[in-house]
Amino acid sequence: MSDFFSHCRIQVLLPLPLGGVLDYLLPDGMDVGPGDFVTVPLSGREMQGVVWNTQPEDSDVPLEKLKHIIRTSELPALPESLIKFVDWVAHYTLSPPGAVLKMALSVPRKSENPKKKTLYKLSPDLPDKLTPARQKIVGAAIDDMPMAVKTWTEIAAVGEGVVRGMIKTGMLIPVEVSGEETFAVPDIEIERATLSGEQQEAAKHIITQQRSETFRAILLEGVTGSGKTEVYFEAIAESLKEKTAQVLVLVPEISLTTQWLERFKERFGTEPVIWHSEMTPAQRRRAWWATIRGEARVIVGARSALFLPLQNLKLVIVDEEHSQTFKQDEGVMYHGRDMAVVRAMQSHCPVVLASATPSLETMINAENAKYDWLYLGERHGPATLPSMSTVDLRVHKLKTGSWISAPLYQALKENLENGEQSLLYLNRRGYAPLTLCRKCGHRFECPHCSAWLVEHHKWQRLECHHCGFNRRVPDQCPNCEAEDSLVPCGPGVERVAEEVADLFPEARLAILSSDEISSPSALKRMIESIERHEVDFIIGTQIVTKGYHFPMLTLVGVIDADLGMSGADPRAAERTWQQLEQVAGRAGRAEHPGRVIFQTYEPGHPVLSALVSGDKDLFLEREAESREAQNLPPYGKLASLILSGPDKGKVMDTAKRLSKIAPHYDNVTVLGPVPAPLAYLRGNHRYRFLMKAEGRVNIQKVIHDWLAGLPKHGGVRVQVDIDPYSFY
Ligand code: ADP
Ligand code: ZN
Repeated sequence: MSDFFSHCRIQVLLPLPLGGVLDYLLPDGMDVGPGDFVTVPLSGREMQGVVWNTQPEDSDVPLEKLKHIIRTSELPALPESLIKFVDWVAHYTLSPPGAVLKMALSVPRKSENPKKKTLYKLSPDLPDKLTPARQKIVGAAIDDMPMAVKTWTEIAAVGEGVVRGMIKTGMLIPVEVSGEETFAVPDIEIERATLSGEQQEAAKHIITQQRSETFRAILLEGVTGSGKTEVYFEAIAESLKEKTAQVLVLVPEISLTTQWLERFKERFGTEPVIWHSEMTPAQRRRAWWATIRGEARVIVGARSALFLPLQNLKLVIVDEEHSQTFKQDEGVMYHGRDMAVVRAMQSHCPVVLASATPSLETMINAENAKYDWLYLGERHGPATLPSMSTVDLRVHKLKTGSWISAPLYQALKENLENGEQSLLYLNRRGYAPLTLCRKCGHRFECPHCSAWLVEHHKWQRLECHHCGFNRRVPDQCPNCEAEDSLVPCGPGVERVAEEVADLFPEARLAILSSDEISSPSALKRMIESIERHEVDFIIGTQIVTKGYHFPMLTLVGVIDADLGMSGADPRAAERTWQQLEQVAGRAGRAEHPGRVIFQTYEPGHPVLSALVSGDKDLFLEREAESREAQNLPPYGKLASLILSGPDKGKVMDTAKRLSKIAPHYDNVTVLGPVPAPLAYLRGNHRYRFLMKAEGRVNIQKVIHDWLAGLPKHGGVRVQVDIDPYSFY
């Protein structure tokens, strides 16, 4: 009896941030398997969920309390690899599985199969004798292609009655197709670039791994411009030989990769399927459906593409794997690169991590032979790596209100005279990071965040870069009412552009920052304009570090190489090195050799020494040693706990309670609670704990047990961030 009933108990996961699966009863005659979509009752409503387990073992809800599943769906089931992945991510990030499932189902009206259309194709066995009108239809057929009634009448120039008649007699057979436009299949026969020796070796290695159909992580390290993209295109082409194979390519910021898409189109004759958060609902639905139906063959997307229902995933590529944009800092806090490795593992396929500046995490995995390690040491063709030097700002002092030193000015001037392009890099949007009153010292601060307002000339406004609050730049100081007393302090890209315009009134400038670029198409226009050499000087924030290839760009000037070097972030030096190396990599990518100038007050800093000498190994080795000594990632584990809420007293109270019950183990250290560096953000007060643990500690369990002891804490949000990358 009990055996019989236990077969009727089904566990369903709903895309809601609840605890976990819910138990339901399977009605007589209904049959479901894991991954099937079902509609179930929940507090008087109907909801769609996914069958998670058909043979639950650990259920203690009595059978008589269970409700029946209402109905099943026509949807294809979610693949088993995705179910495992959702569970894995939920467990690792300490998130409710339903919240993770929600990411996998993030399509509007997912329950509806997009409208189906009926088309007709010729039957293979037609009678020998046909009327002339019917003969016209046969003559007009294009191979086996199904067509709408209207199309048949048009191309055969016959009346609709003729077509209808042939349908009735079975000479035209109906074919159901989805009403959505399908995606073109990438063409692997298009003639491609001939790979160099080292490129060929690398591609061969990846292809061998692919053929073995087992999981393998592969680091594809190559200097900027060495052809990493060409190498993994070759691997993609190999995967696509299998008719149903799907390939997933993760890129840091999809909307910023127009050049990448162009290259893909050149290589495969069609654009890949794109996935990112800024797509319209219709675009999302089309891509999601094409994925679950297996029609989407190559999907390129931001980190959230990891949760797409790929049916037959055969290869995962993570381009610019070092990029911090792979880390999601809200909701389910996961690292796209790390989860890509897990996704590949569960799909039994290789994952390629490509970068010119691999993360220390990946480097160490490669050194320990956990990952394979491919290296491309040369730029493609005649291009050579740029020469790098520093300008010591203690010697070459900047004039007040000026950010370009004499040596950098000289280099820019020469480059302009030679008709080549220059890039000035400063990772700061706007005109000035701080505005203050000369009379009383008043600073403009955001009312919702503990942050200064940044002046933007473009809009004549002061803006908070954390919450978006903004206000007009006033004529007088709001504190002392002095007139014309406000002064901007420090530079942003707008201010550097102003200086360049003063120095070179005849030159053509472009600012490349997210403020200037309102849409992907605006970015595309700007990139094309730079490619056509309609611009002499580009002044850009970190968005220019994203893999662009401008053949005429030969000089890169870094306005403030010291920016971002300090702070609470254990990866500050590593990240600065990555950013500077990447921006330097924009110089001299074609025939003309490039050079890079770093303006700095600390030319001896290990990051700059590594860049200038080209000896990054020494720098990374030291970085690794220092991380190991402090037991920081990738050696030790790190997690942060962020408490936030509008009522400061409640937040502090919860912090105190947590502090009292903090875990005590030899190999676990809990730091805090302390007010977060951004102690006030979007109207919420914030406190942080930081947990450091030895590598073998199950940090998830420690945190889980810790939080389980916390009494109700209404009005205070507790967020767990495993492997945090932001420390504000
Ligand atoms: P990376 O991704 O390593 O920075 P890319 O793949 O972007 O390098 O290559 C840099 C430039 O060199 C691109 O314009 C690319 O088209 C070109 N390139 C690389 N390898 C080849 C090749 N084997 N044949 C022709 N062009 C190549
Ligand atoms: Zn703000």
